[in-house]
Amino acid sequence: MLNQLVQDKINEQINNELYSSYSYLAMSSYCESQQFTGCAAWLRLQSQEEYTHAMRLYDFLIARGGRVILQPIKQPPAEFESLTHVFEQTLKQEQQVTAQIDSLYELAFEQKAFAALVELEWFIQEQVEEEKTAREIVHKFKLVGDDPPSLLDLDRELGERRPEAEEPAQ
Ligand code: MG
Repeated sequence: MLNQLVQDKINEQINNELYSSYSYLAMSSYCESQQFTGCAAWLRLQSQEEYTHAMRLYDFLIARGGRVILQPIKQPPAEFESLTHVFEQTLKQEQQVTAQIDSLYELAFEQKAFAALVELEWFIQEQVEEEKTAREIVHKFKLVGDDPPSLLDLDRELGERRPEAEEPAQ
């Protein structure tokens, strides 16, 4: 059984992951409005992935005899200056999530919530990957600048992303 402090913090992180999902969906809809359907598809998949992160913590809390308490999800930004700006925001968002996961890990460590530590290690690794991917995409947008043919190529490339294979049941 997890103590209340750890439970509250996991509930908070469920909300953070759901916000992240919501925010990526808002970015996706912005890209749709700009006719960059590849970027929109990439961001929609990312939104779905964030939802699975929230559900992973949701299932963990239940498995440990905790209580999931859902909180309101705040409204994400809807307007962006450019595609580069959108992806700069994705990097910033992932850096924030990394800080949130680190702080949750720190609490679980202090509270000797060992099962939570093991669960959170998956998230720590995931954040390394998320930040790396976001950084690479931002770099590409900066290289391309305002060149329309290159932007269209990059949009097409991002549109080729496929959903991650389902992870085997634990
Ligand atoms: Mg996440």
